[in-house]
Amino acid sequence: MMFDTFAMVDWSGGNDTGPEERKDAIWACIARGGIAEPPKYLRNRQVAEDWLAGLIEAEALAGRRLCLGFDFPFGYPQGFARALTGSADPLGVWAWIEARLQDGPRANTRFDLAGEINLALGGGKGPFWFNGLGREIDGLTRTRDGYANPFPERRAAEERAKGTFTCWQMGGAGAVGGQVMTGLAVLQRLRRRFAGQVAVWPFEPLDRPVAFVEIWPSLLEQVVKARTGPGDIRDAVQVQVVAEALSRLAPAQLQEMLDIDAPEEGWILGLGHEDALATAAGALQPPPLRNDCFALPAGVDWTPVDAALALLRERLRPVTGGETLDVTAALGRVLAGPVTARRSNPPLPNTAVDGYGFAGPAPEGPQALPLAEGRAAAGLAFDGVVPPGHALRILTGAALPEGVDTVVLDEDVSVGQGQVAFHGPLKRGANTRKAGEDVAEGDEILPESRVLTPADLALLSAVGVGQVRVRAPLKVGVLSTGDEIVDPGGAAAPGQIYDANRPMLLAMLERFGFVPVDLGRVPDDRATLRARLDTAAGEVQAVLTSGGASAGDEDHVSALLRESGALAEWRIALKPGRPLALGMWDGVLPVFGLPGNPVAAMVCTLIFARPALGLLAGRGWEEPWSVEVPAAFQKNKKPGRREYLRARLRDGKAEVFKSEGSGRISGLSWAEGLVELGDGGREVKPGDMVRFLPFPAFGL
Ligand code: AMP
Ligand code: MG
Repeated sequence: MMFDTFAMVDWSGGNDTGPEERKDAIWACIARGGIAEPPKYLRNRQVAEDWLAGLIEAEALAGRRLCLGFDFPFGYPQGFARALTGSADPLGVWAWIEARLQDGPRANTRFDLAGEINLALGGGKGPFWFNGLGREIDGLTRTRDGYANPFPERRAAEERAKGTFTCWQMGGAGAVGGQVMTGLAVLQRLRRRFAGQVAVWPFEPLDRPVAFVEIWPSLLEQVVKARTGPGDIRDAVQVQVVAEALSRLAPAQLQEMLDIDAPEEGWILGLGHEDALATAAGALQPPPLRNDCFALPAGVDWTPVDAALALLRERLRPVTGGETLDVTAALGRVLAGPVTARRSNPPLPNTAVDGYGFAGPAPEGPQALPLAEGRAAAGLAFDGVVPPGHALRILTGAALPEGVDTVVLDEDVSVGQGQVAFHGPLKRGANTRKAGEDVAEGDEILPESRVLTPADLALLSAVGVGQVRVRAPLKVGVLSTGDEIVDPGGAAAPGQIYDANRPMLLAMLERFGFVPVDLGRVPDDRATLRARLDTAAGEVQAVLTSGGASAGDEDHVSALLRESGALAEWRIALKPGRPLALGMWDGVLPVFGLPGNPVAAMVCTLIFARPALGLLAGRGWEEPWSVEVPAAFQKNKKPGRREYLRARLRDGKAEVFKSEGSGRISGLSWAEGLVELGDGGREVKPGDMVRFLPFPAFGL
């Protein structure tokens, strides 16, 4: 990886935009490993310069290489540098401008500077034009009337990038002339401040920890458009899209984009590589699953459960894209990257109890401290200083005022005559919380792949994280097969049975946290099944079918998958569960062909489909927790396969259902979990310890 961190900046030549997030400000966004942080609002150039300096320092400290992108030209059209400075070196122009431009949050001298240059180089008629001020400026025309430019209108890059503005236009909607001047001045100061650490592309070799590159977010216009919702600020979306795209490129792809020869004018990074950029921007990372990801080693007759699980674990990868959500909307979502605390918790030292605060410690024996005027409560800071030897009324959560580091509990004091009395000793710091004692700013609080819980939402909120980058939910289709199957609730002929699997599987998927999609049912007919899977491939990212998964005449799921070259028949040493048919439909859609028997369908879903789908959803590999409990049953188990029994806990012991028949749906409903009996033979007697996996451990 050439760069670890990508930070993209949408610059602005305008004035301070105020404390509220809004457009026409400076927006920046940091991405690492394909995942962007929420965009950062920078209200003026001073704030932006400080933020950039802080970022460069922080990344250097963390040992990360930083690519910093800015959306304004780094060079002017050919000939300008030499005319202005006597040298064709564009960085000479940076220094020239920085030395002369005065810039502040509310005004700057860019129009005057443009006028001065026009007088010196173009007889007061060009190359710059547009005066955005009320007063006239000598040498700077307001419109293109009477304008004459001794230099080329555009750089080579701008000839190629449709829709770019020229750097000569100093103002007006979309103009970049003001951004270039104000931006180059800031970049020049950063180069000086971090001398030897920054290389400017494409003028200098990129052999330093920080690179400045020129970007133009309109290269990704289509993606930006698609990602900008009604309330979104376009500038913010732009920097996020570009940061993500660049951070997702393969090193070779990025290198190709960087290999540019434009020593005087500079170039736009990614120009001519728009498709590669858009592909990187659109996808979180999902290169498709391998077509053979369900292939089994040749010659194996019965695959042990653990071996089968290990294969799935090794071959499946996340297939879901990313999106940014408010924390309040993110329950149950999967984090697309680790999250760090933006603020410490607690942010300030505060009191853990209601009581009286003073400067501790308090010595042994009776104490009486005069009460200071006022009180400190949570959210109502006490601005004064508590004098030495005095105490102040203080309520739980209140920041400790100056002069207080110790609190005595309400229950331990008596108050009267302007005094508070209690018994020592009390250690300094008693009943208080230290700043950051829970979480320190910058700590990683939650890892990638975390499925967000209600408590996580509290943690994120407490440390100032308002938005999180999460994965889109995994959509999973459910399809029943069989000529005998009819929809529940309707009429059924004697030979027909109601579809029990589909409602069960859809409900299980919902409990797992995926998005269930009802694909209906199909008869035992290959053409219909084929058409249904083809449609599903555009709608869902995985499919669970039930029925028809064996090798019999009417087993069309396996037959069809075999026909299309996508079948792997998994003969797993497992009861209940006949062969599973796993396959990649059309090379893109993983299909889990479950047995038709509802008991087997449920067990196979819990044991195989759930962890596999979890990987596709970006959750990592999830194992259910379990407990060892005494058996309340007796069983003689044969060796050679693993068995799962429908079970429940009563009086701390595992009971099993009276019948092991895999068509007994009432037993599934009776059960509250499964007892797992290992692959070997075993004689279980009442009181022997067995492993119990409660349904909630699977997320049910
Ligand atoms: P199959 O795997 O297609 O041979 O089906 C095995 C058994 O499960 C047969 O008795 C089927 O009738 C039954 N079965 C298949 N699909 C369902 C379903 N959706 N609901 C209830 N039972 C089913
Ligand atoms: Mg069938």
